[in-house]
Amino acid sequence: MKKKKVVIALGGNALGNNLPEQMAAVKKTAKAIADLVEEGHQVVISHGNGPQVGMIHIAMAELNRLYPNFTPAPMSVCVGMSQGYIGYDLQNSIRTELLNRGISKPVSTIITQVCVDPYDEAFSNPTKPIGRFMSAEEAHIEEKRGNHCIEDAGRGFRRVVASPKPLDIVEIDAIRTLVNDGQIVIACGGGGIPVMRQDNGLRGASAVIDKDFASAKLAELLDADYLIILTAVEKVALNYGKPNQILLDEMTLEEAKKYCEEGHFASGSMLPKIQASMEFVSHRSGCRALITKLEKAKEGILGKTGTILHQ
Ligand code: ADP
Ligand code: MG
Repeated sequence: MKKKKVVIALGGNALGNNLPEQMAAVKKTAKAIADLVEEGHQVVISHGNGPQVGMIHIAMAELNRLYPNFTPAPMSVCVGMSQGYIGYDLQNSIRTELLNRGISKPVSTIITQVCVDPYDEAFSNPTKPIGRFMSAEEAHIEEKRGNHCIEDAGRGFRRVVASPKPLDIVEIDAIRTLVNDGQIVIACGGGGIPVMRQDNGLRGASAVIDKDFASAKLAELLDADYLIILTAVEKVALNYGKPNQILLDEMTLEEAKKYCEEGHFASGSMLPKIQASMEFVSHRSGCRALITKLEKAKEGILGKTGTILHQ
């Protein structure tokens, strides 16, 4: 098979929910990635950060509660911390897995900033819950700090942040240079650190970018052949979880649009993957998006499993 340029977006199951789980999960993840590198594909990796950024955000908020001199960490800083911590674990285990197979390639993480539009409508309608549950009084204090909170299904209050669309990747030239040199790069972790341009500066935004959309933007800017979204299901389904469920081998852009309108994909889980795949696939003919399970990446790129989206 012709060697492809591939952006792999890793989902939550590739990283686990806490430190020990992540340490174990990245070993398995590294095998799936090494399978593709071994086949000769150029591989760029992005990943989610939901549980990790939640953990960091809670830790920093608790630090501030116990020691008021430590001011709370902005969301953008928490995302940056999560990129560093996850990138470290991933680059370390991918390096080892490659060396075990006799492949010597540098693997590195780029702390990535992603530009968002300050006028993105997501900012006037924050929807993404983050951090721990709070009492009404604590939520009131957060609101006074300018942070939005919502009452979450009777379980208490939680902070919500906006999830704006990624417009541009600040470090794209550095990522491209490493990729073109045959190196393995981890970038746009957790959707990237959301920033807004201000004169010569980049100001961190109180937001989180969806990792599926950021990965599609990364794949588009790198002119990748494939966007591979690795998640917990082998194939995308119509009538998901119902007795009349149908597993899809492929879909065209037009079919995907119709299925979205018919409500087959849950918002917050499968819908962003389909929408991100549609955006990537529509930017040029010949490129494809593949959604499958972590363990099936190698078979998926050979066309043996998973769901392919094409023009
Ligand atoms: P990730 O961490 O990989 O982003 P998500 O939980 O956000 O994972 O999204 C993947 C999940 O989407 C699957 O595990 C599945 O439960 C759910 N899902 C919702 N609708 C569908 C569908 N139509 N077909 C397949 N999976 C679906
Ligand atoms: Mg998800």
